[in-house]
Amino acid sequence: MSAFDPGQPCALCPRACGAVRAKNPGLCGADAQIRVALAQLHHGEEPCLSGSDADTGGSGTIFFSGCALRCVYCQNHDISIGNMGHSLSVEDLVALMLELQLAGAYNINLVTPSHFTPQVRQALVLAKEHGLGLPVVWNSSAYETVDALKSLEGLVDIYLPDLRYMDAHAAARYSAAPDYPRMATHAICEMHRQVGQLTFDDVGLARRGLLIRLLVLPQNLGRTDLALTWIADTLGADAAVSLMGQYYPAHRAAEFPEINRSVTPGEYAAVRAHMEELGFARGFVQDVGSSSAFTPDFRTPDFRPE
Ligand code: SF4
Repeated sequence: MSAFDPGQPCALCPRACGAVRAKNPGLCGADAQIRVALAQLHHGEEPCLSGSDADTGGSGTIFFSGCALRCVYCQNHDISIGNMGHSLSVEDLVALMLELQLAGAYNINLVTPSHFTPQVRQALVLAKEHGLGLPVVWNSSAYETVDALKSLEGLVDIYLPDLRYMDAHAAARYSAAPDYPRMATHAICEMHRQVGQLTFDDVGLARRGLLIRLLVLPQNLGRTDLALTWIADTLGADAAVSLMGQYYPAHRAAEFPEINRSVTPGEYAAVRAHMEELGFARGFVQDVGSSSAFTPDFRTPDFRPE
């Protein structure tokens, strides 16, 4: 990837919107400066990232403002679309990472960082030079280019992408991104090439590898079943997945009647059954029907089909 020049038209993500970010924000909402909404020890991620004890550790999450995908049902829309947050320098971001390490974080979890890839890359290099020793988690929508991801090789330990749609019509309707299935699957193959399958340390914390998040939409409109089939065929059924049932209608979902409700236990169970038929044996599942939107209740660090 060529060096990011905010004075030149941006083509960092698949939108390639051409914004000159030194002057105006792009479709993702980002201008030339890193913008961060929140940094905290987070206990609501999968147990291999947050740990299982709510009183210690936690995932050292840094939530970046803006997003290139901009789903109509986004549950974090204040941050991703409303651009809530504060502008930071690269050095400020380094300091945040080191502070989270000092506070006892198990990892540095970069949430929706893709539209700042060059700046975050710079911060990671500097932070490691200054003693950052925690696993780095790249927590993204997977709506990213392979070139941008290649620039992170050797700096990211754990890729935590969504695979949100395998249906181009749904990707177009809810995220204005009909190319999402193609771009995201290419991105995930590159992530897998860099870090391989998910591995854990002796207390069950993730050390390195790929963990794919699959959010089941009402009526399975994103075709999570096809996503699972693709993962099994391409990466193998020993790939780690996190099957999420926490969808609820947020942001503009009321404008789309078919997604203006939560996912039902039956819809989730049907996708889970498909996952088990495919032989997936490493990952996480959720209870559906509880108010688990921001506090996922993952059952086990390793589920096995009964
Ligand atoms: S990262 Fe943002 S500014 Fe750059 S191409 Fe994508 S949407 Fe446009």
